[in-house]
Amino acid sequence: MQDNRLLALTYFRGRVSLYAILKSLMIGKGDQVAMQAFTCIAVPEAVIATGAMPLYIDITRGSVTMDVKDLERKITSNTKAIIIQHTFGIPTEISNILRVALLKRIPIIEDCCHTLASEYKGQLLGTFGIASFYSFEWGKPLTAGIGGSAIINDVHLEEKIKLEYHNFTNPGFIKDAKISMQYMAYNYFYKPSVYWIVKSLFHAFGKIGFIEGNYNEVSDTNFADDFHMTMAKSVQKRLKRNLAALPEETMFRIKNGIIYDKEINSPMLGKVHVPDDSKVVYARYPLFAQHKNELIKKARKNKVEISDWYNTPVHPLEKMNWKSVCYQEGSCPVVEQSSEEIISLPTHQKTSEFELFRIIDFLNSFG
Ligand SMILES: *Cc1c(COP(=O)(O)O)cnc(C)c1O
Repeated sequence: MQDNRLLALTYFRGRVSLYAILKSLMIGKGDQVAMQAFTCIAVPEAVIATGAMPLYIDITRGSVTMDVKDLERKITSNTKAIIIQHTFGIPTEISNILRVALLKRIPIIEDCCHTLASEYKGQLLGTFGIASFYSFEWGKPLTAGIGGSAIINDVHLEEKIKLEYHNFTNPGFIKDAKISMQYMAYNYFYKPSVYWIVKSLFHAFGKIGFIEGNYNEVSDTNFADDFHMTMAKSVQKRLKRNLAALPEETMFRIKNGIIYDKEINSPMLGKVHVPDDSKVVYARYPLFAQHKNELIKKARKNKVEISDWYNTPVHPLEKMNWKSVCYQEGSCPVVEQSSEEIISLPTHQKTSEFELFRIIDFLNSFG
């Protein structure tokens, strides 16, 4: 674990950490940044905010991570960084990607928003690329409120990003208080059986601006401000405190992943590929489901926590808005197919054993 390093370069959100990394790599207008589709809007937003363009790479069928062959096919001389995303905490096949990146001399940035403890070939994720970034909002491996961190694995780049850190300003009292209230409400109310209620409230409050939503418009002026802010003070404090509980949280997630692996046996569900020689700490436990929509509808009715993301190549954008983040329909066919099948289950400490088996029984009896 790299606890202290997570406290060194802290930003308003995960996406702002990515933005800061890209800026320190001097990425901007005219450049392309390769990333997998089957991601959340935060990632292309950060790229677009620098003036660069996202270049979407497909995932490997049966996995939730980048397909190196599609990467090789699509990169050009304008591709100035490759973001690899360890989706749900499952490591990307890093050796293959490293080979391509080294050959073309393109730096790798690791999106570790779903992972703080997974390993690939005995090495912690986040230590393979030139830099990695993290997020601590609701649903991530460690929750502290809205905020993100960057970790830099290159001395020169680290010096540079530290110098530029002074250009970021503190979010101020009102935003900070809003985030704290949100964190407390989440911490107090949320458990898997009220997932669906909390989720609809969150979206309703987000829409009226009562809380810090996740999906601001790319053209929004608030949004532009976000990209120049550091992590709120209260989030920094909670992050420091909550990091102490990370080993325990990690153990829960490992245990719950093993139970799901062993107990889920519905023929309607397919397991997601995990690279050989990797240790997976699931942020959520993913499955491919036949009749996904029906399953989700039924889960909602039965108050069983089953998530449906990523529903689309760039979550939560529907087809008519794909253009706003430069995603071209048909450019990542495996992603488009997989997003119609993927579901995911909670693994965190708030998933009691009772709830865990309620979810498993629900899935095994579906169909
Ligand atoms: C949550 C998340 C981010 C960044 O989230 P922020 O809301 O900016 O903190 C980036 N990538 C992935 C894959 C995520 O899940």
